[in-house]
This record gives sequence, structure tokens and C-alpha cells, in this order.
Amino acid sequence: MSSSVIYKLNLESKNNIFIKREDLIPFSFGGNKARKAKLFFEEIDLLKADCVVTYGSGSSNHCRVVSNMCASKKLKCVIISPRETAHKTFNSQLMELFGAAIISVSVNEVHDTIKKTMKEIKEKGNNPYFIPGGGHGNIGTKAYVECYQEIQRWEKNNHIHFDYIFMASGTGTTQAGLVCGQLMQGDNRKIVGISIARKCPEGREVIIESIRRYLGDEFKDEEIQEKTNFIDDYILMGYGTNSNEIKKTIRDVMIDFGIPMDEIYTGKAFWGMNNYIIKNKIEDKNILFIHTGGTPLFFDYLKKEELL
Ligand SMILES: *Cc1c(COP(=O)(O)O)cnc(C)c1O
Repeated sequence: MSSSVIYKLNLESKNNIFIKREDLIPFSFGGNKARKAKLFFEEIDLLKADCVVTYGSGSSNHCRVVSNMCASKKLKCVIISPRETAHKTFNSQLMELFGAAIISVSVNEVHDTIKKTMKEIKEKGNNPYFIPGGGHGNIGTKAYVECYQEIQRWEKNNHIHFDYIFMASGTGTTQAGLVCGQLMQGDNRKIVGISIARKCPEGREVIIESIRRYLGDEFKDEEIQEKTNFIDDYILMGYGTNSNEIKKTIRDVMIDFGIPMDEIYTGKAFWGMNNYIIKNKIEDKNILFIHTGGTPLFFDYLKKEELL
């Protein structure tokens, strides 16, 4: 279910730009959260959990995919959601459609509410499973180690080597998985995460921690440091902030290639990548952009009439 297509974009560019369409993973509008959820639910099946608890905002792609998975498997789904970001979106409406129980609390109560909810469910004799927000953790990292291996197979079959891989970096689990894949193979290329909100050095530290947790002590610290490129030059004012340039990027990519992007993740990262390429004078390289999903966010953006 998880493999997704890679192809070249016919862009006017000094480089060859390819795209990997993780947004086309065939479950619930796909995206990196669908790839991660698949592995989490394998674990949930093994542990025979009867209820899933997770965390995320009203615009969370992760919560949409997890609540859809739960509904399809007839498992109860409880989503702890910060009140501050509880606006109505296509993702939040889908969570409702899937019958998820949403517990709205203020941001600083989230941690305690998760603990309390897990405890209450257990006391009722049920067997809950907790998925960290965004599918963070070793299982989420593993999903992107597998994605990295998929990219390598594609390269081998198509006799192409990607010099760069770019993607939107949020919790950094996606990037951590790709870097683990690279370290395990000893491949020479640059993986660049375009931060959508977090700043250096903290945002980068979280990724490095994820890599260490996944790989153990096998790799030297310098090696991990060297491979973790986390760019915070394009976050603007932080999560979800938009600009006329991002808007133009989203419009152009939709019109020219029929690919939906969004203002929070993929549109920002694609715009950031293009600027990074210019700033660093990158030429004649094979560059892969991983489209990490978020299609319902494209429609939120369209609905705001931002694009017209
Ligand atoms: C969650 C998300 C990301 C960020 O993924 P991380 O693994 O948290 O870094 C990027 N793009 C989209 C569309 C997402 O939903």
C-alpha cells in the first residue's frame, strides 16, 4: 500500500527536479501520516488494542488518517486537541465523519489529559494504544527508512542518483527516517529538511534525537550531525504563515502540474527548496522533492479564496 510514484517535473530549472508523490499513498488522501499510520496499526493489531488515543490540531493530517484507520477497523479513536487550534477544517470535518471522540483542552493541559484519558480507558477494562502526535517516534522513523529504501530501488531501476532530497520538516520524523536510511546505506547525497515552523538548534536537535533513538550507538555523533541538514530560513512567522510567494508557488504547481500543495507544509517547503537552490548556486544536479501530502489543506486554502 505504501509505495508512491516518482517522476520528473518539466520545470524551467538549472537542475533536474523530481517529485515523489507520497500524497498519492492510497489511503485517506495519503501523505506521510498514512505511511506512518500503516506501521503503527500493525503494532496495534499485534497488541490487540481496542482503542487508539492520539494528539493533534484541528488541521492535523495525522489525526485524519488515524481516525479513518480506526473507523475502518472498528476501533474507538480519541483525539486530544488543543483548543487554541480547534478551527473547522476539512481534516476536522473528516475526523467527525469517522466518529472520533475529540477532547478539546488548552495547550498546557494536553500532557495531563493524555495521561488521564489513557488511565480512564484502562480502568474501564479496555486496552488503549497511544500514538504520539504526528506519528513521532521509532515506528514513524521506520516508515521513512522504508521510504528511503524505496527511493534507492527506484534509482537503481532508473539509473539515476539523486544528489539532493528535500522535504517539509515538522516534527522531523520523516527526515529522521530518511537520514537513518542514508546512514545505514552509507550513501553520498544531501538530505535537506525545510523547517515549516521550528528553529535551529532545537528543531534540528529533535531530529538528531530521533535518529539516535532509532540507530542506537552504531554511528558516530559527527556522522549524524553532518547528515542532518535542517534549514530554518523559510519558516516566515512560523506554523502556517503564508506569503505571496508561497501563494504563487501553490498556484503555479497546481496549474502547471496538477499537483495540490498547501500553505503549511508542501507549498512552503517547495518554495523554500527553490530559494535554497538559488542561494546555494546548485546547478546540474538531480533533486528529489518528497511531496508529504496534506491534500485536505489544499482545499482549506482554496476555500479561503486565497488562490483566486
Ligand atoms: C506532518 C506533515 C509533515 C511533517 O512531517 P514530520 O515527520 O512531522 O516532519 C510534512 N508534510 C505534511 C503534509 C504533513 O502532514
